[in-house]
Parts: sequence; C-alpha cells; structure tokens
Amino acid sequence: MQHFASDNYAGICPKALQALIQANNSGHEPAYGDDSWTTQVCDRIRDLFQTDCEVFFVFNGTAANSLALASLCQSYHSVICHELAHIETDECGGPEFFSGGSKLLTAQGANGKLTPDAIEEIVTRRADIHYPKPKVVALTQATEVGTVYTVEEIRAIAAIAKRRHLRVHMDGARFANAVASLNVHPSEITWRAGVDVLCFGGTKNGLPVGEAVVFFDRALAADFAYRLKQAGQLASKMRFISAPWLGLLDDDVWLRNARHANAMAQRMAARLADLPSVKLMFEPKANAVFAELPAQVATALRAKGWRFYQFIGSGGCRLMCAWDTREETVDRFTDEVRALCLGAAN
Ligand SMILES: *Cc1c(COP(=O)(O)O)cnc(C)c1O
Repeated sequence: MQHFASDNYAGICPKALQALIQANNSGHEPAYGDDSWTTQVCDRIRDLFQTDCEVFFVFNGTAANSLALASLCQSYHSVICHELAHIETDECGGPEFFSGGSKLLTAQGANGKLTPDAIEEIVTRRADIHYPKPKVVALTQATEVGTVYTVEEIRAIAAIAKRRHLRVHMDGARFANAVASLNVHPSEITWRAGVDVLCFGGTKNGLPVGEAVVFFDRALAADFAYRLKQAGQLASKMRFISAPWLGLLDDDVWLRNARHANAMAQRMAARLADLPSVKLMFEPKANAVFAELPAQVATALRAKGWRFYQFIGSGGCRLMCAWDTREETVDRFTDEVRALCLGAAN
C-alpha cells in the first residue's frame, strides 16, 4: 500500500539502487570519502550547478541543516527563518545545539515564505548588544507548505541579505521538486540568485539515505569536514551514501522523479478541488497538497488505513506525493474522499 504521509515513506528508486549495487560490486575502496564514487559524485554536482562548489555528504536533513547553519554562525548570532521552517519545528533544536546557541528568529509570511519586508523588520528590530545578531537567512525550497519561491523572490531576499550582511542558507530537502516546478536551471535559484549554502535533499527524491551539503562560497566550507566528523556524520563507507546519487544524476532522474511527484500532487489537487466540503489551503506548486477535510472524513480515511499528517491547524491535512506515487493511488484516495464527503453531507 502507498501512503501520503511523507515522501520518505517511499523506497529507493531503481536507478539509485542500481548504482548502490554497482558500488558494492566494485571491490574495496578507500574509506571516509576518499573513494572514486564520492569523487565522481562531487564532480557531477559541480557540473550540475556549473560552479566550483564544495560538496559534503551527511546522513539526513537535520544534520545537513544544523551543521551548515553552524558553519555560518557564531554562538551569539541568529538565523532568520519562517515560523513553519523545518529547522524551527522539526529538528529538535539541532541548529541551536550544533551552533552552540545561535537563536532562530521566526517570521510569519503567507504561503510558507519569508519576505524581504519580514527580514528587514527582524534585522532592524534591535541593534544593541543584548540581542543575538542576525547572521543568516534560511529559506526552505520547496517550502513546508508545498509552495515554491520564484527566482525573483529569492533574488529579492538575497539582495536584502547582502545589504544587511546576512548569509543565505537554503533547506532543499525538496529542492528537486522546486527546480522541476519552476523549470529553471538549478543554478538560477541557488548561487546565481545569491544562495551561499544549499542542503540538497536526496532521500525524499529516491535515495536510501543521504543529503548533500553544497557550499557555493567555498570559504564557508573551511573545516566543515571536522565539523561533520565531530557530529558523527562522517560515513566510513561513504561510497554507499554518495554512489546512489549517480543513479539520480544520470539522465536527470532526480528531475524526472520530482516532476512525477509534482504531477501526482497536481492530480490530487484537481480531483479534490471540486468537492464542496474540501478546501485547498495553498496553491500546490511542488509535491504536496494541503487540504481541509471534514473531521469525520479524515477520521474515516485513517480507519481505512490511509496515512497522512494533520498538523497545520485543525482539519488541515498534508498529502505528500513521492517519486513512485501511482496515479491509481491518487485516484483511489480521492474517490474515497469523495464518497466519504457525500456520505457526510447526507
Ligand atoms: C524532510 C525534511 C528535512 C530533513 O529531515 P530529516 O528527517 O532530518 O532527514 C529537512 N527539511 C525539510 C523541509 C524537510 O521536509
């Protein structure tokens, strides 16, 4: 059975698994990232972004974000992020812990997005010694509510950041879905727009495990390898984290996976939109649909075995599509929603 709880409910995509098996069949290799697979994937990521970036691999997104932010901040600095940001709500204080105390300063913003005005308000709120000095703006692309920052929006935020001497971090757990949605070159929403560090998600796109931390400003990556090692994020058999990336990068599988997941979300949204008792909460731009379902409908769906998260307000359900979500799964789910809504209305 497939679910809509998260894209990390899905398995490994066949191409990534193939690359993993190939790496396993290639004999002994040096450990801790000095292997030929890791070298090759780092080069491929530099090719992909068309720039000489520094690339590191970690086990998960929490480590990627926490350690990337820690490398941008001193303990007395602060990080500006949206109130729904994963770093604020879902990382158990990891960014604060690994940075030795950098505070997260949250802002509200429509559609899960930070705005230049919100950032400006926080930066200019205080200038005294008693307040943690803002040092980083952290964006999530695609956002936690399934929307996507446009190229112009990122450029505008990066311009404010530059003016205010802030670094720009991007949580790209669903970066692929954003690139696919915008149909732009990945450089256009990262370094060419002013992003300094990207946490490039692979897990939700079809990898078994592992995210890449990509430093576009290489100076910021100084000593990052030590930080990873100390945090327990340096994989000894690193080739088994890096090699599966080849399966994603060859033939743009990462984009194909993302396009498919996005298309399934579009299908879901279209099939829910015409139900009078269902309200779509955000315009779906990536692979998530947020819908308000009548409470008894959500309960009945769960009783039928469907898994999905319900955490934005009461009745707000997050329906997340993955690289392998089948049309039939979307259709069966939405048919059941429809039947339950009609039943509830009678
Ligand atoms: C999934 C996710 C992460 C990574 O979470 P881990 O469970 O630590 O891998 C980071 N940011 C966002 C927005 C996510 O959705």
